[in-house]
Amino acid sequence: MQSATDLRNRLRAIDHRGYPAYKDLRGQYDFGDYVLSIDHVQGDPFAAPSRLSVHVSGRRAGFPAEYYNTFEKRITLQDHLTRLFGAQLARGSKQTGGSGKSGLLAASRCGQEVLERTACRVGTAGAEKETGAAGKTGSMAEQSGSTAGKADSASASGKPGPAAFAPGSVILRFEAGFPARGRTIDARELEKMLFDILPGCVLNSLYYRKINQNKLKEAIELCEDQQYIRKMLPELGLCAFIANGSVLPRQSGVSDRPMENAVPFRSPSSLEVSLELPHRGRISGMGIPKGVTLFVGGGYHGKSTVLQALQNAVYNHISGDGRELVIADASAWKLRSEDGRSISGVDISPFIRQLPGRKDTRHFSTEDASGSTSQAANLMESIESGSSLILIDEDTSATNFMIRDKLMQQVVAPEEEPIIPFIERVRSLYEDFGISSIIVAGSSGSYFHVADHIIQMKEYTPLDITEKAKKAATAFPVFSAPQGRFPEYSKKRCPRPNAALKKDDRLKLKALGTSELSLNHDAVELRYLEQLRDSEQTMALAYLLKYLELSVMDGRRSMTELADLVEKLLDEKGLESLFAQGTGSGKTDFSRLDVRASLARPRRQEILACVNRYRKLIV
Ligand code: ADP
Ligand code: MG
Repeated sequence: MQSATDLRNRLRAIDHRGYPAYKDLRGQYDFGDYVLSIDHVQGDPFAAPSRLSVHVSGRRAGFPAEYYNTFEKRITLQDHLTRLFGAQLARGSKQTGGSGKSGLLAASRCGQEVLERTACRVGTAGAEKETGAAGKTGSMAEQSGSTAGKADSASASGKPGPAAFAPGSVILRFEAGFPARGRTIDARELEKMLFDILPGCVLNSLYYRKINQNKLKEAIELCEDQQYIRKMLPELGLCAFIANGSVLPRQSGVSDRPMENAVPFRSPSSLEVSLELPHRGRISGMGIPKGVTLFVGGGYHGKSTVLQALQNAVYNHISGDGRELVIADASAWKLRSEDGRSISGVDISPFIRQLPGRKDTRHFSTEDASGSTSQAANLMESIESGSSLILIDEDTSATNFMIRDKLMQQVVAPEEEPIIPFIERVRSLYEDFGISSIIVAGSSGSYFHVADHIIQMKEYTPLDITEKAKKAATAFPVFSAPQGRFPEYSKKRCPRPNAALKKDDRLKLKALGTSELSLNHDAVELRYLEQLRDSEQTMALAYLLKYLELSVMDGRRSMTELADLVEKLLDEKGLESLFAQGTGSGKTDFSRLDVRASLARPRRQEILACVNRYRKLIV
């Protein structure tokens, strides 16, 4: 490997030359305390910044092995380091003048959720998923101590691949705008960035002995507490838990930070559950039992706020968020209507029987779905993706999908009405498939008949009104009775690859916040995937869609199998395997990474949802 001095000499040699001469800097340089890797060099000062990474050996980084010996803890440690390093870089960013992105230094911007990102990778000995949530430390501590030395020599050989992931080693990826005056290289400024600014950033955030150890400990312990709650949910027969004292509302529609002076959450005593967390000890909160739960109440009393907290509770949140002890079934799916989406070969017949023009609802495709057909397809696809909790808000639902009132039933004969409303299927979803529902319905009492629990939100505080509501409901006839078992439907959808894509080997991928991505100029609308939280997840979806289309879809593998394969790949090879390049033979070479973006891992649910919204999907 080249030394830092080599880099300095090269920088001096290319000063004042044309910008493309920067390309020659690609490679790895030994800075003693860490290795600096220049992974991708921008084409000009105005293009997306260059991509760099620092690699610190396990021995030097020195993080305790029990901080990364489970998958969730490792993700938490990585998240913490990304935030620390990002804060350091922000201080050193743009200290130089120059054109375009000259002098920019930035790591991934992390929001309120703790997500797996390509920004940071802490090495492990593998097989961490099986080690379980809380507890179990020790065995890996010894391992990391003994292999740390090997890690050093392996990375010193400059070879990428598994050696770079030696236990406890840290890789931090970030962006740097290589400085220029006009389009002329300003290498002195890059020298300042890489030799004066960066070393301090690395030292102050990626070395355990230099950071605020208590803050990190707090983050790891919170993660263990969160995982404990997640593990306990099924054992307690719950699909979600909201700790007393949680702050659910956000600062504003555009800020995800907690609202100040909010009314803290308080469980009704009938639903209160106590848990003994490994670190915080005994806490109490509302346990939402599996089954069908209804939230009712007057407008503006906080119903949607509770539901939004639950849909985001598939992720862990950082300390201070207010929702850090709000935990839901990680497969939960926010079911909403989505006018205009495309649908490819979905069996929506359990909800929609016949459509005008004899359109087949057993294999339903459209370029422009209606409110009810989109919501029916969203539900059938979420069953396919393995969700065991459905979250519905009346604010974002198609009324005719949810309910049909008595008068309408009398005027429009059942044979003329193609829709079997959700109210007639919600019980069989639970009884036949074990899929629970949490429904916000402020304006329709009909769901009283089918709900197991009815909660009224009153001035942001939940009240258990199950008994009262059930009693009142007996005086009203049931007019939308549950329809027995969930009907048979076709479960296997096997998409064929879009042949037009194969011809291109440099497919263009783009992400637009969390609302849209494009694959070779074909846009995929994602704005209604409310549980897609981070633009880096969107970018990962773009990579995944490309990977699935080019390498996995074959017309025989079902959607479920596609999701399984992708999850296995990400679990075993890591998120950065999405940067792996094709070898020309149609195979993917996981040791050759082309790092050009920052990715965060989306859930299985969003991966399939993205595929389902790709307008070139052929099922
Ligand atoms: P609903 O769905 O019942 O109409 P929302 O959940 O939309 O009501 O909440 C209405 C408003 O009240 C929102 O602006 C929200 O931020 C605010 N709000 C929700 N919960 C709380 C709370 N616990 N404390 C203070 N304000 C809250
Ligand atoms: Mg609402």
